[in-house]
Amino acid sequence: MMLLRGGTLIDGTGAPPAPDAAVAIRDGRIEAVTIGAGRAPDAGGDEVVDATGLTLLPGLIDCHDHLAMHGYDLPRRWGLDEPASTRALRTAAVLRRTLAAGYTTIRDAGGLDAGFRQAVDEGLIPGPRLVLALAIVSPTGGIGDRVSPSGHDCLVPPDPALPSGVANGVAALRVTLRALVRAGADVIKCATTGGASGRPGHGPKDRAFNADELAALVEEAHALGRRVMCHALGGPGLRAAVEAGVDSIEHGCYLDEDPELIPMMAERGISWVPTLTVYAYHRESPAPHVRERARALHDHHVASLARAVAAGVRVVAGTDAGGHGHPPNAAELQHLVEAGLGPMRALQAATRLAAECLGLERELGTVEKGKRADLVAVEGDPLQDIRLLQDPARVRLVIKDGVVVRREQ
Ligand SMILES: [Zn+2]
Repeated sequence: MMLLRGGTLIDGTGAPPAPDAAVAIRDGRIEAVTIGAGRAPDAGGDEVVDATGLTLLPGLIDCHDHLAMHGYDLPRRWGLDEPASTRALRTAAVLRRTLAAGYTTIRDAGGLDAGFRQAVDEGLIPGPRLVLALAIVSPTGGIGDRVSPSGHDCLVPPDPALPSGVANGVAALRVTLRALVRAGADVIKCATTGGASGRPGHGPKDRAFNADELAALVEEAHALGRRVMCHALGGPGLRAAVEAGVDSIEHGCYLDEDPELIPMMAERGISWVPTLTVYAYHRESPAPHVRERARALHDHHVASLARAVAAGVRVVAGTDAGGHGHPPNAAELQHLVEAGLGPMRALQAATRLAAECLGLERELGTVEKGKRADLVAVEGDPLQDIRLLQDPARVRLVIKDGVVVRREQ
């Protein structure tokens, strides 16, 4: 057994910080949580980890990342700029760094193949627990369609570990989803609108998929036991996604423009992953159409956040990192706080609420008896300064599945 003693616990449930906490860990799970040193279980013979002066949190979760993406430009997106082995090792380095930053679970929204999950599970490389989408399901011309500005299809031979997500029509969609699940997809990522960084002519309010296609996609995914995370920024494609009953809306920048959507999401339990971090990057993009789109949506995004919180929508943290490099995942928590979310609520967006978004709330997201022992201990109080979670020097201890994966004295 391992006993973590002396820290101030923010357990993820929303309860206020509890000083002098003790967390007992056995066989990868939390066996007991006690508050107050006098009541800590006897540690006789067990490993004791002193967390005095640190803040203990549940292992952090990013619900929208692209760990295997390393830039938006075409050579990088298509993997032409370096050998595949270098690229894979570059991705492995991102996984290691992400875990060391206290992120014990990542939902990858496309690009990371199931071989990485296997490598982490086998202990070949250190990395977070992975929930994988593999590819983005969209119709021809949607954001999952790999076409160059010249109109040429992607010249790189298809990778069987990353099946194509391009599908048109109900029958093709069902085949595509089954192929993705066969290749190891844990979640289905689809797109019903364009995005900020998409090609000119397929913008944030331009729709992809018709109602029949979307209904079939959601039905097939759920029949396969997979949740649907849907890239949708605004306009009719955003509404169609909510109406079709996807499980989470990714981006959702223009939710404020359709007053019915936010209450519908709250009522249906549809999570929202605003991914504010990526738009901060896009607002300074060298591509004029990307910059304009990102600047135009900003006020709507912030207004949508206030309304969603007020309506009780489950707002969760995701960076949409990858194309814009791999900044600290906790940058999203700073953006959420700056956009008006309270710091405790922001922490929950990366812990309990994020676990709910992933359907893993029985296993992850809070420091409670019976949960998997995923914990992070940081120097300082993140409720006073949420930015400290981005500082690697402040992350002193990371535990995943009861195993210490980082420990700084
Ligand atoms: Zn994304």
